[in-house]
Amino acid sequence: MVSSLTTHVGTERKVITELPGPKSQELHERRKAAVSAGLTVGFPVYIDRAEGAILVDVDGNQLLDMGSGIAVTGIGHAAPALVDAVSRQVASFTHTCFMVTPYESYVEVCEALSELTPGDHAKTSALFNSGAEAIENAVKIARLATGKSAVIVFEHAYHGRTNLTMALTAKNMPYKDRFGPFAPEVYRVPMSYPFRDGLSGPDAAARAIKIIETDIGVHNVAALLIEPIQGEGGFVVPADGFLPALSKWTTDNGVVFIADEIQSGFGRTGDWFAVNHEGVIPDIVTTAKGLAGGMPLAGVTGRAELMNAVHEGGLGGTYGGNPVAAVAALATIQTLKEQNLLERAKELGEIMLASLHSLAKDVAIIGDVRGRGAMIAMELVQPGTKTPNAAAAKAVVNYCQQHGVIALICGTDGNVIRLLPPLIISDDQLADGLAVVGAGVRSVR
Ligand SMILES: *Cc1c(COP(=O)(O)O)cnc(C)c1O
Repeated sequence: MVSSLTTHVGTERKVITELPGPKSQELHERRKAAVSAGLTVGFPVYIDRAEGAILVDVDGNQLLDMGSGIAVTGIGHAAPALVDAVSRQVASFTHTCFMVTPYESYVEVCEALSELTPGDHAKTSALFNSGAEAIENAVKIARLATGKSAVIVFEHAYHGRTNLTMALTAKNMPYKDRFGPFAPEVYRVPMSYPFRDGLSGPDAAARAIKIIETDIGVHNVAALLIEPIQGEGGFVVPADGFLPALSKWTTDNGVVFIADEIQSGFGRTGDWFAVNHEGVIPDIVTTAKGLAGGMPLAGVTGRAELMNAVHEGGLGGTYGGNPVAAVAALATIQTLKEQNLLERAKELGEIMLASLHSLAKDVAIIGDVRGRGAMIAMELVQPGTKTPNAAAAKAVVNYCQQHGVIALICGTDGNVIRLLPPLIISDDQLADGLAVVGAGVRSVR
């Protein structure tokens, strides 16, 4: 019944018109008249359908997706288990509001989150619609449970666009500029950024802790909030030992360690969560993006004593943990397990790192290649320096787009190209995508 809705999509990249094509251009004109100009225009190619790692636009071009809608469609577009679960759920019921009359799939997602997140302590979860909403709630819970208010965040951090999460996010343009006033009691400290600070993990942690202790005061701090591998901020992988040192400090000082795994979680880095690579056990983990394969769902999972400190009615929302999104998450988790996609993420990482490292040998604009699993980036610089080269990043991504490959830019200075292919991408598709990226880099040398 369901499969008859989808016409088969090929597995190859195929550009048959200029990009954007004529139908996309027409739609883009309509968009300009109807959609706020405040939304980013990444690549105005309008999508008609998608399967696996291929997006088909309204002009019939087949684009290779190396962005997964920003690390969301890890199990691929139109993954059969997800299509099936969502279709059946839509026909069954679409909404009751979990706070009014509950349903099993919400509970099942929370059970899965308890099982998959690090640590074997007692945990509970609450579900929301977006990453930003999960972060807001994680901070609410940490403040209530500790009776303290200060929140520590890091340079280059990205946590969302709502009022509190704008304050938590580092970069002014485009996220914060003229949108203030911002929420108080948010304090920013330096991140470990090996390419730029050259510090060991423990030294970078000591630098951050010193600032917290002298400028803020440990007894004022409710939570330390960190992306274990930064996303929008530039795929910054902290030096080994940075996260464990911060985690130990929070434990010693009664501070809630919140890992924002919204981009780095759910298999992306080759493990369920990026903190697992360093054996860190957060007090609270936030999830979204890859959690439900494209359906809007986010989770806050934490130590039961923190999560359950909240009075009844203190957490919630009309749509949070919507049944359609909940079954999508269950299908996503099942697919990640059945298809061994965490292992695959590691393999993809090895292939991408090898390809970019070899490219970096003969191209002077690649300053750094980094990442874990299927979360890999290259930081572009002015040749012979570490000066950020945003123009080159833009040119490379442009080249990729013109050749039908979706690649994304990130970084505080807009000079980092990130690759986030769906974990189901084939070796041939990945090789094809990397060849285009490589040609793009060589073209702007
Ligand atoms: C995307 C993202 C968010 C915000 O999630 P939304 O669903 O866009 O609100 C928060 N933190 C990180 C690390 C993200 O990548």
